[in-house]
Amino acid sequence: MSEQPKEELATSQQADVTIVGGGMVGASLALLLSSLNLGWRIQVVEAFPVSAASPDLLQPSFDARSTALSHSSREIFEILGLWETLNTRLADIRDVHVSDRGHIGSARLRAEEQNLPALGYVVENQWLGSVLMEALQQTDDVEIIAPATVEDVSPVQGGMELCLSTGLDITTKLLVIADGAQSNTREKLGIDATTKDYGQVAVVANVSLSQSHNNIAYERFTDSGPMALLPLLPIKEVPLGNKHRSALVWTLPPERAEEVIAASESEFLSLLQDRFGHRLGQFKHVGTRHSYPIRLITSNEQVRSNMVVVGNAAHSLHPVAGQGFNLALRDVAVLANELAQAADKGSELGELKVLQGYLEKQQMDQKQTILLSDLLPKVFAIGAAPVALVRNLGLLALDAVPLFRHQFARLGMGLETKGTSLDKSLSNNRPQKVSQHG
Ligand SMILES: Cc1cc2nc3c(=O)[nH]c(=O)nc-3n(C[C@H](O)[C@H](O)[C@H](O)COP(=O)(O)OP(=O)(O)OC[C@H]3O[C@@H](n4cnc5c(N)ncnc54)[C@H](O)[C@@H]3O)c2cc1C
Repeated sequence: MSEQPKEELATSQQADVTIVGGGMVGASLALLLSSLNLGWRIQVVEAFPVSAASPDLLQPSFDARSTALSHSSREIFEILGLWETLNTRLADIRDVHVSDRGHIGSARLRAEEQNLPALGYVVENQWLGSVLMEALQQTDDVEIIAPATVEDVSPVQGGMELCLSTGLDITTKLLVIADGAQSNTREKLGIDATTKDYGQVAVVANVSLSQSHNNIAYERFTDSGPMALLPLLPIKEVPLGNKHRSALVWTLPPERAEEVIAASESEFLSLLQDRFGHRLGQFKHVGTRHSYPIRLITSNEQVRSNMVVVGNAAHSLHPVAGQGFNLALRDVAVLANELAQAADKGSELGELKVLQGYLEKQQMDQKQTILLSDLLPKVFAIGAAPVALVRNLGLLALDAVPLFRHQFARLGMGLETKGTSLDKSLSNNRPQKVSQHG
């Protein structure tokens, strides 16, 4: 991706922005910064080898998972000029069905009712990775340094100094830490994180169905944890009957997760059928199963002079509400905009008050989104009859009252939590390089 031979020869470099971690969030931020066209030298340091052709084989961010994108994420990818390409392999979520296993309460939200083409969009992470990496390859102001990790990092006058595992030393005006929930770089700077272990594991797999999902996303709360089935695009080449697919995220206590991962395909399908029911017809096959421990991890600091922590390194959420990436993308869109505005006013890149201004703008969105994804599984995990009754009355009310459905749909689409900061950022965003040259 970068001019590797030259990079290997160099032993020290100066950069404007160095992003550590080229996952979903780091790569998106690099593209946002590049689209500002401010002449910055932007670097992405990624631990794994990088390839647009098969990002899944290399980078953990672009593994076999799927991600539900909200409307706010669509808006950001539209600005980056990537939406049209992404959209060729996205499944629309037209309806969301929420239910509570063993109780009568359920609710259905419909895109049509909200006058929207979709309530969200499901993208396979591998496809998202290909599109992001391909776009990065085409920018000439973003340099990818991979595989490389940060061995040492320390503040210096007007910036940060990084020593990479490749032997390269970088002095950068702004260090962006985007190396995931277990951020090594955050730790090297002595920034603690607060961890809350939910004592659960998310088992993720694609399942094929006997019938079409009709673009409905299912969120089912059970006594052992929530499960989601997100619509995927059908596969064209397989025999009729098995082409319909959904992406499963099944949250379970660790010992149960181990059992369902070790189970034979037929045992797995029958356990799943039992927990989920028959709303999607019969589960026919299951793909490779992966598991992710579920923790809420929040960085105790997100900004310092010449440094900002983003993505999972800043806040890693329970996947139940499908909001982690959507929130992080809103964060980095607002960050890019704040940096551009500060540059216009002649501020130095990496100035603390600019970074604090960014955090102030995103604080409410972060708080609300984290609260939502923390509360939902808790409320639905309570088995006590009075709580279950109130919860089910809530679901019935959601199903019956259009205003509630409208508010809930906006929440899921990232429109309710984003406040005004993102709207302003998006409208203030500069034209992309293409249009400037064109
Ligand atoms: C089961 C599951 C389902 C989810 N579903 C959704 C959903 O539907 N919608 C949604 O919005 N969010 C969802 N999320 C959350 C989403 O996956 C995360 O928000 C997203 O992955 C965060 O991306 P990131 O780039 O910050 O971190 P990561 O994806 O962890 O990427 C970090 C990158 O940094 C690199 N790296 C690590 N260490 C170093 C180092 N020392 N030096 C250099 N590079 C390094 C890694 O190789 C990786 O490429 C889900 C999460 C899970 C677990």
